[in-house]
Amino acid sequence: MLLTLLGSGDAVGTPKVGCRCPVCTEAVRSGRQRLRTSLLVQHAGKTILVDSTPDMRRQLLAAGGPVVDAVIWTHGHYDHYTGYGDFYRVQDPPPVYADPRTLDYAAEYFSFLAFARHPVEPYHPFDLFGITLTLVEMNHPPVSACGLVLEHEGFRVGYTSDTLASIPERSRELFAGVDLLFVDGIALPEIRLHKHMNYEEACRFAETVGAKDFRCVHLSHLIPWEMPHQGRDMESFEF
Ligand SMILES: [Zn+2]
Ligand SMILES: [Zn+2]
Ligand SMILES: [Zn+2]
Repeated sequence: MLLTLLGSGDAVGTPKVGCRCPVCTEAVRSGRQRLRTSLLVQHAGKTILVDSTPDMRRQLLAAGGPVVDAVIWTHGHYDHYTGYGDFYRVQDPPPVYADPRTLDYAAEYFSFLAFARHPVEPYHPFDLFGITLTLVEMNHPPVSACGLVLEHEGFRVGYTSDTLASIPERSRELFAGVDLLFVDGIALPEIRLHKHMNYEEACRFAETVGAKDFRCVHLSHLIPWEMPHQGRDMESFEF
């Protein structure tokens, strides 16, 4: 199973349009960037896309233009599903898997596209192309938001880009001891938010669930480029 982090940025990405902060200034100067957070999962000639961001077209081009066989939506926020429309006239819009509330909400936006909708209840594992996937409830008010656990040949990977640290115990148990964790670390350590973890909380979260390795994702433009443990666009991982 090959995982590629297609983007590591938050809802606005880095650089933020019009921002003159040091991180954005350096990004504009060097061409560095963080596209919106999304993960590509490839195995046995099949491709799964976790979240279809507003940057999806560019992200798929950067990944070599794979045909996407399935999409998973974690939740119904703009930065996680609205890129799906870019499948129009490119390929058959792939089937989408999401918890029922997310699926109903986001699919309505794409009424001009015919695609298969697969509602999946959290904590009910399902199989896609030999990978076992489980949606797990997160804490990202006010929407219903899920993280994901991917399992393949004894390796387990956890993914959550939008959540507070306080998640249901059942979800925490499923993240326990994962080989790799992608975790929401949107803000600088001194900033407390109502629906996201800051960088420090993300690092502590990874430690308390016992993740063997982790990358912070969904990073805001204020996170310096040299901060350790941050996910980098197009970084890949093989399990
Ligand atoms: Zn988001
Ligand atoms: Zn900035
Ligand atoms: Zn969100």
